[in-house]
Amino acid sequence: MATSRVGRVGIIGGGVGGCSAAKTISNALGSAVEVTLFEIGRGPGGRSATRRTREFPGLHINHGAPTAQIVTEEGRKAIEAAGGEEVKGGHGTLNSSTGEFQEKEEGGWLFVGEGGVMGNLAASLIEGTGANVKTKYNSMVRGLERVRGLERAANGDDGYWILRNGAGEILGEADWLVVAGSGVAHPRWTATFGNEPPLVEAAKALGDSQLDSSLKAIASQRASPVIAVFFVLSGSEAQRWLDLPFKVAKIEGNEVLGKVMIQRTGEEGNEVAVVLHSSRAFAETNKGVYGSTSSAKRVGGAKSDKGKEDELNAMMLEALAKIPQIPEVPMTCKYGPVLHRWGNAFVVGEGLSRENSMCRNAKVAFCGDYVETDAPLSSIECALLAGKQTGEAIVKEIKGGA
Ligand SMILES: Cc1cc2nc3c(=O)[nH]c(=O)nc-3n(C[C@H](O)[C@H](O)[C@H](O)COP(=O)(O)OP(=O)(O)OC[C@H]3O[C@@H](n4cnc5c(N)ncnc54)[C@H](O)[C@@H]3O)c2cc1C
Repeated sequence: MATSRVGRVGIIGGGVGGCSAAKTISNALGSAVEVTLFEIGRGPGGRSATRRTREFPGLHINHGAPTAQIVTEEGRKAIEAAGGEEVKGGHGTLNSSTGEFQEKEEGGWLFVGEGGVMGNLAASLIEGTGANVKTKYNSMVRGLERVRGLERAANGDDGYWILRNGAGEILGEADWLVVAGSGVAHPRWTATFGNEPPLVEAAKALGDSQLDSSLKAIASQRASPVIAVFFVLSGSEAQRWLDLPFKVAKIEGNEVLGKVMIQRTGEEGNEVAVVLHSSRAFAETNKGVYGSTSSAKRVGGAKSDKGKEDELNAMMLEALAKIPQIPEVPMTCKYGPVLHRWGNAFVVGEGLSRENSMCRNAKVAFCGDYVETDAPLSSIECALLAGKQTGEAIVKEIKGGA
């Protein structure tokens, strides 16, 4: 029998994966379900977010994923439904010693968010689409507890989840929990925040073998980091970058840098945001910084070493300056250079199997780019499809139980 609580879904994580799940569930069940999305950041997007600043309202900087490579028809439909726009040209490799750019087309299609703003992908899934999704931004889930464990109350009510913040206050309650950012379930949580990952802690009390097996699979995945440095230029300084033959270039033969991106920005679209992504090795060697404006630091209280941050910032700019043909970065930029560390830029290992992404007894489901779909792991396409897949599975469960 349906109870008043059946139908509350709490989604932890407002990246493309969580937003895709939120939209799928909300569209299918309408007012019969209450979908709430909890997100540490100031808005949706996660690793495909777009940085904005109150100081310069027209600026937007895609400091995470610069584009989405789409390889499946289903992925194409999903990204188009998220307002994605196909882009062509200006993507390839940059030789670090000669400065020579070579255009390279990989298989599939390249997409960006509406208007070139990557953050619009996640946002457009939950905003203005008729999807009835409650959002709680600046909300980091730091504690999880399942009331009544796997037991049912005498009146037939299932147990439910309580989500708490760092002060132990209740952020929300949910019948189904969707883990759309693997952080609350992965051992890397402990390295940053000290205690056990919240879902691992909650699972100890539950004793659900499938949840235990899912957590074990997630723990075997590793996170590959990237350090991003970005700055904005205007006028003739911007023009020099716009004159270069690329928009997104993989840097070959460089120990420090992995990619450089040139994006038009500003109210008139005539300013330029330059984004540098470090090599994986450089990010792995240089731990202990998050960026003073990162959500991990701002909301989660993660400690970042400012002196080290400045040092890494300078090292990445120095490596850039050594590449021939690259314009000089002026001493004063309109904005930045700002550093941001993506501790979990890419997922390495086996994707969480479709079967283990649904724990029916514990009412926990997983989605995001760490879950198996038909798309490559650790991509925007994977996150979109996993959100849809997990969302559909929850809809089926809720309908079945009603
Ligand atoms: C530097 C970089 C370059 C990339 N390049 C590409 C590329 O070229 N092509 C491509 O397809 N992909 C690329 N990616 C990967 C792509 O961005 C991700 O695969 C995709 O965005 C993942 O989406 P997601 O929803 O699964 O996870 P995320 O975007 O990570 O979303 C998870 C969300 O959960 C939130 N969260 C985590 N813990 C909590 C908590 N306790 N409480 C509340 N909220 C929480 C996080 O803040 C985050 O917003 C890149 C990523 C980075 C960082």
